[in-house]
Amino acid sequence: MKTEQPNYYPSNHPPDDFAEADRAAGFEVGADFERFDQRNDMFSRAFWDDGVQSKEALAFFRSHADRPASRQADGFTQKDYALRNAAWAVADDYADRNKANGLREGFQDPQEPRYPPAEQKLKIDDPAAMTLEIKRVAHFFGAHMAGVTALDPRWLYATRTEVRSFEPKPNDLPDGLTNVIVMGHGMDYDLVNAYPSALAGAAVGMGYSGEATTVAQLSQYIRNLGYQAVGSMNDTALVIPMAIQAGLGEYGRNQMVITKDYGPRVRFSKIFTDMPLAHDQPKPFGVTEFCNVCRRCADACPPKALPFGPPEVGRANRSAIKGVKKWTADCEKCFGFWVKMKSDCAICMRVCPFNKDFRKPIMRLARRLAGTRLRRLMLWLDIKLGYGKRIAPNKWWNP
Ligand code: SF4
Ligand code: SF4
Repeated sequence: MKTEQPNYYPSNHPPDDFAEADRAAGFEVGADFERFDQRNDMFSRAFWDDGVQSKEALAFFRSHADRPASRQADGFTQKDYALRNAAWAVADDYADRNKANGLREGFQDPQEPRYPPAEQKLKIDDPAAMTLEIKRVAHFFGAHMAGVTALDPRWLYATRTEVRSFEPKPNDLPDGLTNVIVMGHGMDYDLVNAYPSALAGAAVGMGYSGEATTVAQLSQYIRNLGYQAVGSMNDTALVIPMAIQAGLGEYGRNQMVITKDYGPRVRFSKIFTDMPLAHDQPKPFGVTEFCNVCRRCADACPPKALPFGPPEVGRANRSAIKGVKKWTADCEKCFGFWVKMKSDCAICMRVCPFNKDFRKPIMRLARRLAGTRLRRLMLWLDIKLGYGKRIAPNKWWNP
């Protein structure tokens, strides 16, 4: 195990003026809150923490390049891995393009700008109208949803991770970035229903590759208008609280943001900017109340990594943030299962009653029911009608 990280941000405690924002978002942040160090996430710990590191864990990360030997099992054949790894290709390209400089864009470091901000700055008289325009452009570049929130520094990582040494490094951002544009990238319904399998991992790869291009394009558009824009995927900050503050969804027991149009089948990206924009507000639609009576994700999780009880302050291990009352997974158990399976898992996404195709009117009706006192009936119907069951991966190849 390497040395303890220095604290680049001595004042880790949340300022009082977030109280109102927290009430709106349903956050409970205590006095013992500390910003999260990125090197404590499971994907970083696999490289430096003796308690997590193993030959198998490292092989998991190499599996895009090494192309693991296929198994006979449905969903883990050469074709399944080929599709999964190809779906990741764009995100992998971004991650590797500045490797020689010790950067891993989109994962430990934000995207490097293609061109700096234009010298001529667009005059913005109406930030609300500009926000609508930015959301339209985000959709044009491939985002399925977009919201804007004030930059809440509590969710910035206390430190970034230096990818050659896996030691901490400062989480630098340019001065004056006051706003965050959060974007959601929906995942393929049929593929998600094929979890667990390497095939289903193609839905994640498509999400990440889509994020990489959308973030690069929208952040460059903003820079072309003369404003600063730092394009970010998993790097720099925790995106879940930002997505909730930006009105894109509600937090669920499965540790995911449950969105109105895609349920939990969403990956999120973000752009930090100084462009004047209007802020969205959190938009709850009954997820917390539903999760209070539902345990489907916790029941279905093979290593039992998800909590069955109410939200709590406290953490199973260093991969959970300190001082926030919430449903928290045991990420060591979760990641251990991924490594054993040689692919990612999202069974807790598949079985969630909010994992539906909401383009269908009947599913929108079910969502309305889930937000009322009839939520237990909706849950009962969901199980009775067989939703959440795994679809055999070969059905995806042979529809
Ligand atoms: S991803 Fe899989 S292992 Fe991890 S919490 Fe969800 S169901 Fe459990
Ligand atoms: S499965 Fe149930 S408890 Fe878990 S996130 Fe979905 S609605 Fe909430």
